[in-house]
Amino acid sequence: MENLITLVNKIQRACTALGDHGEASALPTLWDSLPSIAVVGGQSSGKSSVLESVVGKDFLPRGSGIVTRRPLVLQLHKIDEGSREYAEFLHLPRKRFTDFAAVRREIQDETDRETGRSKQISSVPIHLSIYSPNVVNLTLVDLPGLTKVAVEGQPDSIVQDIENMVRAYIEKPNCIILAISPANQDLATSDAIKISREVDPTGERTLGVLTKIDLMDKGTDAVDMLEGKSYRLKFPWVGVVNRSQADINKNVDMIAARRREREYFSSTPEYKHLAHRMGSEHLAKMLSKHLEVVIKSKIPGIQSLVNKTIAELETELSRLGKPIAADAGGKMYSIMEICRLFDQIYKEHLDGVRPGGDKIYNVFDNQLPAALKRLQFDKQLSMENIRKLITEADGYQPHLIAPEQGYRRLIESSVVTIRGPAEAAVDAVHGLLKDLVHKAINETIELKQYPALRVEVSNAAIESLDRMKDTSKKATLQLVDMECSYLTVDFFRKLPQDVDKGGNPTHSIFDRYNDSYLRRIGKFNEFIFALKKRWGQGIISA
Ligand code: GDP
Ligand code: MG
Repeated sequence: MENLITLVNKIQRACTALGDHGEASALPTLWDSLPSIAVVGGQSSGKSSVLESVVGKDFLPRGSGIVTRRPLVLQLHKIDEGSREYAEFLHLPRKRFTDFAAVRREIQDETDRETGRSKQISSVPIHLSIYSPNVVNLTLVDLPGLTKVAVEGQPDSIVQDIENMVRAYIEKPNCIILAISPANQDLATSDAIKISREVDPTGERTLGVLTKIDLMDKGTDAVDMLEGKSYRLKFPWVGVVNRSQADINKNVDMIAARRREREYFSSTPEYKHLAHRMGSEHLAKMLSKHLEVVIKSKIPGIQSLVNKTIAELETELSRLGKPIAADAGGKMYSIMEICRLFDQIYKEHLDGVRPGGDKIYNVFDNQLPAALKRLQFDKQLSMENIRKLITEADGYQPHLIAPEQGYRRLIESSVVTIRGPAEAAVDAVHGLLKDLVHKAINETIELKQYPALRVEVSNAAIESLDRMKDTSKKATLQLVDMECSYLTVDFFRKLPQDVDKGGNPTHSIFDRYNDSYLRRIGKFNEFIFALKKRWGQGIISA
C-alpha cells in the first residue's frame, strides 16, 4: 500500500508538471480522479496548524486574520530514514529548501506575487512538495478560511469568492475533506460542517477535526463533540491541540508541541479514555488509512483514464509532428528535410511505388497514338491537292524519274498536322504531373504542421512544372519540324515507284500525271503512318 500511495503521489506530480492543475479545461484532467485531502473551515479555526502537525514540520504561515490567501497543494513524500528532509516548489524547480522558515517566507512571497500585498485572494494554487523520513505519503490542500464579512481592503465579493474556491476543491468526489471546527465555538456555527455537508451529505469522505480544545471555557469540555453526540459524522471526530499564538511567538518546536499534545490528552481526566484516538499523529495515520481505501477503489478508473489520456495525447502528438527547431540553422535543416521528403514521395509516385504515375504511360501508349490515328489527311491527299502540288512542284522543269518535290510538299503538309496531338500530349502529361504534386503534398505528413510552407512548396513545384511544360513544348515542336525537314533516302525508296507505268518522262506533263498515278501517290498514307509511329517514340524519348 505504501507503494501505491507513492505511485499516486507521483502521478499527481506528473499531472502538475504537465500543466494539469485540475482546472476545467478541454482536456480530461487526471487530477479529478486522484484522491487528495483538503482542509476547510472558518478563518483562524486552525487549518494551517492542523496541516503542519500532520506534516510534523513548521513551514506554513499561520496567525490571526486572513493568512492563507491562495490554495496550497502540499505533497508529502516519505523518504528513507536518515535522509535529510527538504522541500521543493513547482514554481522553483530544482531549488531544494532545507530551511523550513525559508519555505514559509517563499509561500508568503509567492502569495504576494499573485495577489499583491493586499488581503485579496487568488485561486491559483501554490504547489509544494515535502520530502521527509518523518511523514506519510499524502497530498493535502490548505485553503483560505471561510469568512462572513469583507474586511478593509477586500472586495465585497470575497466571502462568496472564498466559498466558491473552497467548494471547487472539496466538491470533487475524490477529495477527502478535513473539516476543521474550533472546540471553543458551538458546532452549530461551524462553517466547515456546513460546507462539507453540502458537498458530501452522507459524510463518506469527511473527517471532523476539533481544534483549540485547550482553549475551551473552564467547566466545559469537548467529550460530547468528540464522541459524536453533538454532531454525528460517519467517521469519529479527532481532537487536536495545536500551538497557541503565544507558542508560535516563542518558536515552540513541533516535537515539543506533539509531546505536549500527547500529554494533554493522556493527563486530562475527561479525555483519558479517548487519548488513543486523539492528536495530530493519530489524525495523520487515520488519513493515510482512509486514503488507501479510496485509492484502492479508484485504481480501475484511474488506469482506464490514464490509458485513455495516453491514447489521446499520442494522437495529438502525431498530429503536431516533431518539435520545431529554434535557431535559423535548425529551421533551415527542417525545411530542407521536409522538402526532401516531399521530393521522395513525388518520385515514388512517378516510379510506381505509389499510384498515379502509370497514367503518364497511358498518354504515350494510348492517347497519343490514338490521336495520331485520328488525324485526317483527306484534304492533303485529295486528288486535286495531289495534282496541284505535284504539278506546281515540277514547275516548268519536268522531273525525270519521280516527282520528288511534290512528294516532299505532300509529306511536309501532312506531318505538320502532328503538331496538334504532340502539344496535347505535353499538356496531358503536365496535367498528370500537377495532380501528382497535389497528391504528394497531401501525403507529406510533415507539411501538415506548417501550412505556410505547404503553400510555398506546392507553388514552387507547380511553377517549375509550368516552366518545364513550356520547354517541353518547344522541344516537341522542334522535333516535329525536324522530321518535316529531313526525309531520308530510305523513305523515298519505300514510296510507290511507278516510273514504268505512269511516269514515263517522254510523255507530256499531263499524260504523266494521270489519275491512277496520282491515286498511287495518295496511297503514301502508310508512309505517313510509319512516320507517325516513329514520331510517337520520338516524343516519348523527349
Ligand atoms: P487558519 O486560519 O485556519 O489556517 O488558522 P491558523 O492555523 O493560522 O491558526 C490561527 C490561530 O489559532 C493561530 O494563532 C494559532 O496559534 C491558533 N491555534 C490554532 N489551533 C490552536 C489550538 O489547538 N490551540 C491553541 N491554543 N491555539 C490554536
Ligand atoms: Mg491558514
